[in-house]
Amino acid sequence: MRPVPALLLVLAACATNPVTGRRELSLIGEQQEIAMGLEAAKSASAEMGVYPDSQLQRYVSALGMPLARASERPNLPWSFTVIDDPVVNAFALPGGPLFVTRGILAHVNSEAQLVSVLGHEIGHVTAKHSVSQMSRAQLTQGLFIGAMILRPELQQFGNLGSQALGLMFLKFGRDDETQADELGFRYMTNAQYDPAEMAEMFKTLDRTSGGGDQTPEWLSTHPNPGNRVTKTNERIAAWTRPAGPLKVNRDPFLQRLDGMVYGEDPRQGFFQQAAFLHPTLKFRFDFPAGWRTQNSAQQVAGMSTAQDALIVLSGATGSPQQALSQFLGQQGIQSSGATNTTINGLPAATAQFAVQTQQATLGGYVTFVQLDGTTYRLLAYTDQSKVGSYDRAFRASLGSFQRLTDPQALNVKPNRLRLVQVRSATTLAQFQQQYPSVIPIEQLALINGVDASTGTFPSGAWVKRVVAQ
Ligand SMILES: [Zn+2]
Repeated sequence: MRPVPALLLVLAACATNPVTGRRELSLIGEQQEIAMGLEAAKSASAEMGVYPDSQLQRYVSALGMPLARASERPNLPWSFTVIDDPVVNAFALPGGPLFVTRGILAHVNSEAQLVSVLGHEIGHVTAKHSVSQMSRAQLTQGLFIGAMILRPELQQFGNLGSQALGLMFLKFGRDDETQADELGFRYMTNAQYDPAEMAEMFKTLDRTSGGGDQTPEWLSTHPNPGNRVTKTNERIAAWTRPAGPLKVNRDPFLQRLDGMVYGEDPRQGFFQQAAFLHPTLKFRFDFPAGWRTQNSAQQVAGMSTAQDALIVLSGATGSPQQALSQFLGQQGIQSSGATNTTINGLPAATAQFAVQTQQATLGGYVTFVQLDGTTYRLLAYTDQSKVGSYDRAFRASLGSFQRLTDPQALNVKPNRLRLVQVRSATTLAQFQQQYPSVIPIEQLALINGVDASTGTFPSGAWVKRVVAQ
């Protein structure tokens, strides 16, 4: 969870209408494709968070834009955004919004490698893969941009955010992947980048499937269309190499990554057992012990072990009193015991509520509480018939919101990538000894694109390490 600009909250609140006309979506015009992509991009940026480094954002954009402008669809409103997410992923939305995570950037080792990823994703857009995927997704599940006040689908815990997020995890078919690889190859070679780096990138992405704490999201959304490395090498063999040098741009690329956050960023909130601590927003909130919890850019949520109750903390607008009356004023909500109060000395307003949804009648508590001028919504709900059994847990959790004062938690820092230039030929093992990282050597090998046991860097090479700052 991170501070949400007030404007975003307003946008989310105004955009609660589901997209209509689903039946016509099999024939999507370009204007509609663009509009759908932009809406989904807004949700993606809000839900996943944009990495706050304008230089890095501009750099990725400056790399991607010429590729897109040279493609078959140069006039789309292309955009390139680095998402503040440690998972290894890249995705494109219809009409041109393209996203790469800082997680995938950490695994890239040259400009040409990044260009190969961008080229592949541009290929999905130019070949309109995501358009057909998007219309299919809308036909089956409907697309609700913005947040509903209540999500009755308790089962869909993994998808608590906007349903638009589902779009990013659309699976393309093998044929689509092959075509995107082909297009990516063409875009990068037309731009004079060395296509051998595309094969290197695929090797790295393949290696990320070997486990570790970083979900290889890219692999789950990009099914392997056969051996990508082999296919890339076949394309290279069949390709007429142009006159003049090919670009790899390893060192200048790596230097761009110096200082980038690596792994989860505890500044955006982290868990200590059941307690959620947010050092930037300076609050602490306790979930019931043993619940499954999840922190995303817009909210932090916990689900009971029986998966039948939810507690969700998110941002709200207005004073606690205003926010509560707005919440209770929604159609279909019945409430009792609305009262202004304080929670651990903070101004708050709370009520018990019930709401009829399509699936069930839900009941629980809603509390709005204010800290340092920001209002938070604490929502605890379950099936109406189970409110009694969760009553204690709900009250205890909602009553736990408090100012975070623990200096150690307040000062927690994320790990960061640091680039080191080696002065002589160095093995990975020697490097790790000389410049220790806070990650295991296998992971260090992965992000540097070398083998853990045989990896060697030539004299003068820039090498990534990960440090607690
Ligand atoms: Zn793909």
